[in-house]
Amino acid sequence: METLEIFTVPVGAMRVNCYILKDAATGIGAVVDPGGESPDNGSEKILAKCRDESVDVRQIILTHAHFDHILSLERIRKATGAPLALHRLDAPILADPFSSYMAQYAGVTTPPAPAERLLEDGDVITLGKSELRVIHTPGHTPGSICLASGGIMLTGDTLFCGSAGRCDLIGGYDLALAKSLAKLSRLDGNYTLYPGHGGSTDLQREKETNVYMK
Ligand SMILES: [Zn+2]
Ligand SMILES: [Zn+2]
Repeated sequence: METLEIFTVPVGAMRVNCYILKDAATGIGAVVDPGGESPDNGSEKILAKCRDESVDVRQIILTHAHFDHILSLERIRKATGAPLALHRLDAPILADPFSSYMAQYAGVTTPPAPAERLLEDGDVITLGKSELRVIHTPGHTPGSICLASGGIMLTGDTLFCGSAGRCDLIGGYDLALAKSLAKLSRLDGNYTLYPGHGGSTDLQREKETNVYMK
């Protein structure tokens, strides 16, 4: 039995899946990938879901630092006071509005404040009595991560239902993505997958049917 509940809030023109995680035992939770319509609009939907589900947001986590995953970041930070965590190798992307595409797509040229915590492969993020394991999966960006807990895994823009992340953006690298997908396919057991865009799926099914995982 998972002790971690997961709520999906699709936000913004890119339909990013913002995920709200909640440790069932304590109510302590996290917001993962706070996207939005624009920097000024999108956070309300996320915050309303947190309120409705009585989630005590203690952590904000990015699977990577692209604009569509961070549009509501500063608003969620302000509203919750929660610290931000992302992989060390995506910190420079967060700090550069041209690398995160915030400048090109959202007209925002001021970077958000840096993360309070820089993550590494194998790190554990504690939410109440639940733990999230950080799996470094570079390729879509250098610091892309997946987050696993029990039988669930958030895959960001690394792995989608029937597809995989693009590698033609700044910092993308197709060989790294192939290695990351191979790393995921070697994991024991099955996981329900929650990608950064589109519907959920599971690891076994992707191993059998996703051409990017072959
Ligand atoms: Zn992305
Ligand atoms: Zn995305």
